[in-house]
Amino acid sequence: MALVNEHYLKLSDNYLFEDIAKKVNAFRLSHPKVRVISLGIGDVTRPLCPAVTEAMHRAVDEMASAATFRGYGPEHGYDFLREAIVKNDFIPRGVRPDLDEIFVNDGAKSDTGNIGEIVRWDNSIGVTDPIYPVYIDSNVMCGRAGTLSDGRWSNVNYMPCTAENNFIPQIPDHRVDMIYLCYPNNPTGTVLSKSELRRWVDYALENDTLLLFDAAYEAYIQDDDIPHSIYEIKGARKVAIEFRSYSKTAGFTGVRCGYTVIPKEVTAATLDNKRRIELNRLWSRRQSTKFNGTSYISQRAAEAIYSPEGKKQIRETIAYYMDNAAYMLNALKGAGLEVYGGRNAPYIWMKTPGGTPSRKFFEQMLYATGVVCTPGAGFGPSGEGYVRLTAFGNSEDCHEAMERITAWAGN
Ligand SMILES: *Cc1c(COP(=O)(O)O)cnc(C)c1O
Repeated sequence: MALVNEHYLKLSDNYLFEDIAKKVNAFRLSHPKVRVISLGIGDVTRPLCPAVTEAMHRAVDEMASAATFRGYGPEHGYDFLREAIVKNDFIPRGVRPDLDEIFVNDGAKSDTGNIGEIVRWDNSIGVTDPIYPVYIDSNVMCGRAGTLSDGRWSNVNYMPCTAENNFIPQIPDHRVDMIYLCYPNNPTGTVLSKSELRRWVDYALENDTLLLFDAAYEAYIQDDDIPHSIYEIKGARKVAIEFRSYSKTAGFTGVRCGYTVIPKEVTAATLDNKRRIELNRLWSRRQSTKFNGTSYISQRAAEAIYSPEGKKQIRETIAYYMDNAAYMLNALKGAGLEVYGGRNAPYIWMKTPGGTPSRKFFEQMLYATGVVCTPGAGFGPSGEGYVRLTAFGNSEDCHEAMERITAWAGN
């Protein structure tokens, strides 16, 4: 008899996003004449840029000929891509990772979810709250999060980020083994300045904490003093793993490619505390066992975004989304709504008027305007009282959604 991993059972019935989809469906059925506009999705909508699709066509043609066909590639990624990453994403920022510190993957979700495998199940964890649910759920699955009560997991340190603290998480007053940071942030769309991020690196150095830094929205940063990589901070190479993804940067949500950086200086202790083990080595071992690499075509596609045309084209797409974000911020503020983020990230985090619970507000707005948002409570306890709006829609929809919301809010 096979026994289940009972930690998984703790997750069931708790999936807010399915619940939202059901409510939206029910609304569509009862209001067939209303055109629903979703500002709830966390997916891009603009097509891949020509530099990328041309590179993919070329790669497909190579696959079609015996002379240029490629089978299994290196598990950790082709050097042509790893070299382009180092040269374009890091060297201009004064950071120079070795090629074997870069692990090309099929997107950041898998690695942010799987990284916990190479550290003990009983490490304590910390997350800024609200947060991308993968960090917590993947820890629930191995028992590291503990048990749920009142919407909080017993072994998780929640660091609230709310309007009251200007969305700047407070550094814990005690040791935490592993801390997840996501900047620019999903869902709040807020960022940390260099000096604020430095406080986290200093904390990690002092407390021997492992930082897991998710920079999936790095390409959306507009302001100069916001770090794009945690390695721009001195000492981070000793304590931080960084996750990057082409999903939001270049519309790769359906192509699948990203990468993780694990500097060789990042180590974790054995239980007897007698030895320090390089996490780069463990992750390399883990990946060679469980992962056979990202498709050649996807890696050629990713390489193409670093070409001069590719860079220009993805910048245009990002500008398109960021124009939406600016328009939304302006319209919502004009309607007297309290909004955050949206300047260095494609997300707008809106306070629900009068402190309405986020699920209730989601439904009110859906029924009043036909616009879908995401209730903040789905991202953690401190998300209550907020909703997330994304700038990933097409601009006509985005403008119409703002008209509907401002007309409704004005009443
Ligand atoms: C979208 C997103 C990712 C990227 O996931 P992929 O698997 O690369 O598509 C990673 N982290 C956060 C916080 C995200 O919102």
